[in-house]
Amino acid sequence: MTEEINLTIDGIPITTRAGTSVLDAALENAIYIPHLCHHPDLKPVGACRLCGVEIDGGRMTMSCLEPARAGIEVVTESPEIALVRRTAVELLIANHDMDCLACAAATDCELLRLSAHVSVQSERLERLKGLTELKPVDNSNPFFSFDPNKCVLCTICVRTCEEIQGVRALALINRGYETVIGTFGNKPFIESVCESCGECVVRCPVGALAPKRFQKPAREVQTTCTYCGVGCGLYLGVIGDRIVSARGDRERPSNHGQLCVKGRYGFKFINHPGRLTTPLIKRNGEFEEATWEEALDLVAEKFSQHKGDSFAALASAKCTNEENYLIQKLTRAAMGTNTVDHCARL
Ligand code: SF4
Ligand code: SF4
Ligand code: SF4
Repeated sequence: MTEEINLTIDGIPITTRAGTSVLDAALENAIYIPHLCHHPDLKPVGACRLCGVEIDGGRMTMSCLEPARAGIEVVTESPEIALVRRTAVELLIANHDMDCLACAAATDCELLRLSAHVSVQSERLERLKGLTELKPVDNSNPFFSFDPNKCVLCTICVRTCEEIQGVRALALINRGYETVIGTFGNKPFIESVCESCGECVVRCPVGALAPKRFQKPAREVQTTCTYCGVGCGLYLGVIGDRIVSARGDRERPSNHGQLCVKGRYGFKFINHPGRLTTPLIKRNGEFEEATWEEALDLVAEKFSQHKGDSFAALASAKCTNEENYLIQKLTRAAMGTNTVDHCARL
């Protein structure tokens, strides 16, 4: 069992597990310490310099990298800490395209939250602004865009792609003021090894990586992705009878919230006007709508005309294990052949 330890943060006694960082211990106990590069799914890097705290009266240290220890006294706000945070946030905003009304992250932007918390001073911002030119937006990916002018270089996307997805499509490229997030060779996303899973997009704390189509759903429905046998858990966002969004279910052991490109973005076909919603039977060379009873009777009749090796079955990764078991049972026991295969094996 993990050892529990006691410490104080801003004079408030808290209990946490040994090994937890000071930042996580604070956040778990509803004590906000500003942060930008921290994400609970990723290893800490202490890059944004915003989560500084003072421990036992010592010098400022990054709370995301500092393990909580028994008996320590943590202070999250002081004049020195406030100055460091405000300067860091002002420099970020000075190089940021604050086009908030047109930004996909406008209602959930970590930079806006931070600027309100550290009381950014507009007259200082004016002096800092105007040093950089707008860089081109990468719209090459069909599902999301990358706007380097909104990027705060937190590297969450880079670490997500490496630590979670294992693709390593992204990196920090160039140096100093020229530093940007880019793909290998700074090619457009679509020409890189990016798999379009969108894991980086859902973790980007600002509007730099943003889905191209997003509508806030009226409600969400918990379900299972049917594209393949992994069976990832997801929540489909719905407006009326239209699906407008998908997000991974973090509680599902098969995917822990992750989705691939199909599960995250491949839901438009559901409401496509060309989608078949009733069985069709070909009569006199033309397809006609039929009931399920008519269709299944026809299939059974056709099956009865075959036995042994004139019959073959191809099962689908979209089916459950139980359904695939039944397909092979039907093929072997009822149709009398072992000619059964599965698309996941091909
Ligand atoms: S979409 Fe997926 S593969 Fe592409 S950069 Fe983002 S995390 Fe990496
Ligand atoms: S694109 Fe988003 S996640 Fe990546 S470094 Fe920029 S702000 Fe951070
Ligand atoms: S999200 Fe991708 S990996 Fe998960 S079940 Fe769907 S298709 Fe399979």
